[in-house]
Amino acid sequence: MISFYPGPSKIAPDLDKYMQEAYDEGILSCNHRSPSFMQLMEECLLTIRKKLDLPKNYEVFFVSSATECWEITAQSYHGKKFMHIYNGAFGEKWSKYNQVNDPITYEFPLHKNISLHQLSQLGAADADILCLTACETSNTTFIHPKTFQKIKKRFPNPLIFIDATSSMSGLRMDWKSGDLWYASVQKCFGLPSGLGVMICSPKALSKINKKDTHYNNLWSIYKNQQKRQTTHTPNILGIYLLNKVLQHRPDITTIDITLKKRMKETEKFFKKLGYEFLVPVSRLRSPTVLGIKTSKEKVQLLKKLAKEHQITLGNGYGAWKETSFRIANFPAHTDNDYDKIKDFFKKIEKV
Ligand SMILES: *Cc1c(COP(=O)(O)O)cnc(C)c1O
Repeated sequence: MISFYPGPSKIAPDLDKYMQEAYDEGILSCNHRSPSFMQLMEECLLTIRKKLDLPKNYEVFFVSSATECWEITAQSYHGKKFMHIYNGAFGEKWSKYNQVNDPITYEFPLHKNISLHQLSQLGAADADILCLTACETSNTTFIHPKTFQKIKKRFPNPLIFIDATSSMSGLRMDWKSGDLWYASVQKCFGLPSGLGVMICSPKALSKINKKDTHYNNLWSIYKNQQKRQTTHTPNILGIYLLNKVLQHRPDITTIDITLKKRMKETEKFFKKLGYEFLVPVSRLRSPTVLGIKTSKEKVQLLKKLAKEHQITLGNGYGAWKETSFRIANFPAHTDNDYDKIKDFFKKIEKV
């Protein structure tokens, strides 16, 4: 079975080998304040820095999931003036988790760029934190790195928080255009779920509410990370696997180019077959997840037939649950996987 579900998705190659290695090395029985764990954490942080090409002064933290980051940002920046800018289910959920801070929301249409003019009218310049979703996995829209740069330039004061769950480690990020980035590892990292990665600028660190007493408050996470430890007993296997998987990957620029090229070819392929995309404007489509719109009946039929061909298509999500399907284009997918999915669709459409 090849999973094109946008998370959990196909896992990275050789993961079975790394799991066996973790078992054999005994790291899974080590206490999370032991030198063995601290060494693993040190190594994994260095690998992330190197492979994702992070700015030197940005910090990396381990958390449990992207959803947890919604909670952490609400708690550890409590009392700040938040503005949530979104166009789909994940961005909206983030703002819902943040009701305690009574945020301003700006919902932009699926087929349009974010309007800086409208952001300005809503008071973005005076906000403390702007929250955005780099790839809205639910409806497969994409915020272009140039758009992030423009937002940063136009609104230099607020911190910019970015949910990069279905793009981190798949696409090259312009890290400096954001202050706090996060992702779960079951998307582009090609790992089993249960671990999240958060990346933080010095400016975001300087504004943490140090009085936050939740177990997963960002200030404790940071203080522990300085000792190469975590606030709680973390997902040690996940951290071990993350380190191994990233170590064996090419640099992020190469991955970025590969995924974008493959997405362009895939779009062309489906267009030729007469399929319609969820996102009409090509520039606003995520290079990591393709959303295709069709009838409810056809979605059901395609999913059933795909299964018979050992292919898992991703369900639609939220408003698009029944009338769309999604295809992940993550680093763990190979060109051979894409040949298989294309052969399947050629067969179905009899071309
Ligand atoms: C998958 C996803 C999430 C949720 O991830 P969890 O690991 O379930 O917390 C949040 N945001 C985006 C954009 C996602 O794609």
